[in-house]
This record gives sequence, C-alpha cells and structure tokens, in this order.
Amino acid sequence: MNQPEKQDSPNKIKHLIGVMSGKGGVGKSTVTYLTALALKQKGYKVGILDADITGASIPRIMHLPKYEMKVAGDFICPVETGQELKVMSISFLVDNEEQPVIWRGPLLSKAIQQFWGEVLWGQLDFLVIDMPPGTSDVAITVMQSLPLNGFVYVTTPQDLVSVVVARSIQMADLLKIPALGLVENMSYFICPHCGQATNFYGQSKTEQLAKQSGTELIVQIPVSIELARMPSEGLKTESPVVAEVLDKLGKFLSQKFK
Ligand code: ADP
Repeated sequence: MNQPEKQDSPNKIKHLIGVMSGKGGVGKSTVTYLTALALKQKGYKVGILDADITGASIPRIMHLPKYEMKVAGDFICPVETGQELKVMSISFLVDNEEQPVIWRGPLLSKAIQQFWGEVLWGQLDFLVIDMPPGTSDVAITVMQSLPLNGFVYVTTPQDLVSVVVARSIQMADLLKIPALGLVENMSYFICPHCGQATNFYGQSKTEQLAKQSGTELIVQIPVSIELARMPSEGLKTESPVVAEVLDKLGKFLSQKFK
C-alpha cells in the first residue's frame, strides 16, 4: 500500500499527479512532460517520475542526453534538465533503450517505491508521474505504491479510446484516486498550407465523458508538427500551439492545488 515519506527523508514532495491513459500511443508521455513544464512555468518546483516501467519513453520524448548515474549517500540523483525539471526513468538504468524491462508484481512495486523514496528529489511542489497505460497489473501496482493526489487523463476523440479511459477513471475511483481533468490529444489537425482545421477522428465526445465522470476537459491538443518532432528536436515552447497548451494546463492545475 501507499508509502508515506520517511520522517528523516531529504524529500519533501507536496503533490503527486499521475498522468494516465486507457491505452498506449495516445500521447501520455507527451502530456506528462507538458504538464510538468506548465507547472514549472507557474513558478513551482517540479519533477517527473517515469513509472511506465515496461514502456519508459520520457527520456526520448524529452530529448534528454545519456544519463550518467550519480549517487549522493543512499540516494540516486535525478537528471536536472535545462528547464529545471528533475527527471527519473528506468530507461536511465538499463544499458540500452531497446532492452525490455520484464518485471512483475513485487519487483515492480519495489522499483516504484525506490524511485519515489530513494531518488534525491529534494523539495518539490509537484511530482508528475507518467503512469503505465490502462488497467493492467502494472498500472494497479503503481497506483497502490505511490500516494497519488489525482490523475490527469489523456484521451483522443476516438470512441474506443474514450471507453477505455472511462474504465480507468472507474478503476482509479475504486482506489480513491480522484480525476483532476481530461486532456484530449490529437483532437484536430490544422493544415499548414491553408490553415483549415480538420477533425479527422470525427466529433469529439470528451466533453460528454468529462461530464459523466464528474471532471473537466482541460485542453484539446491538435496534432502538430512541433509535438511530432519533439523527440528529435526538443520542445519549441515559443510555438503558439505549445504555448496555449502550457498556459491552459498551468492555469487549471495551479487553480486545483491552490
Ligand atoms: P504514450 O505515452 O501514450 O505512448 P507518447 O507521448 O509517447 O504516447 O506519444 C506517441 C507518439 O506520438 C510520440 O512519437 C509523440 O511524439 C507523438 N505525439 C503525441 N502527441 C502528439 C501530437 N499532438 N501531435 C503530433 N505528435 C504527437
């Protein structure tokens, strides 16, 4: 079950926000990074814990260089990025990114608790957790291993995706972890030539899903070239699309936790 911080721990983390999705590939890691950066831009101290152990992709999404492990006493040092985010991911600790991590149950739970309690996070206002997708064993193990304050759910306008998100909201509800809000990714595409927006997945039902689950739609993110190229070129925060997403996420979450 959830482990509180030890009394003598150098880590003081005020809020743990999980970023969840019903299935893989919908932009959960991208939204994790954007959420952390949005909070950082609001003046908070923020870390990112990549708890998507078997599909860790935060270092790639954030375009981070190779990690050189550093320890301080009994603690592992996280990476500090140029944007002043502290980051820890299992893929820092395996020899190469393609190597699969095949852990289950108790080992997984132990690894997650070590990432939470034995990484030198220091004083943080927010630790944003990239969760394993779906309602699998791995996701449940992470939910039970960390004292999460709430989830941001990532969905797309596809019917199937909103159904699986609804399922994971219900599962988190059973574990008493509240939904903070929904982010709809890949909502539409703006043609770079004529500027027209196209809803290629059809009409979005995310507002409806938000209402049914008693939560809110925080922001709709279009498919964008900047976000598609983020893993190879880094995040272009000056792009209007990215700036708007950061602004909406930052305002919403700072309001929720004020
Ligand atoms: P997940 O964590 O859900 O598996 P990722 O965040 O890793 O998804 O995103 C999957 C891929 O889609 C990545 O290559 C990412 O760069 C790309 N991507 C995510 N959101 C967008 C978007 N709005 N526009 C363009 N590409 C995107």
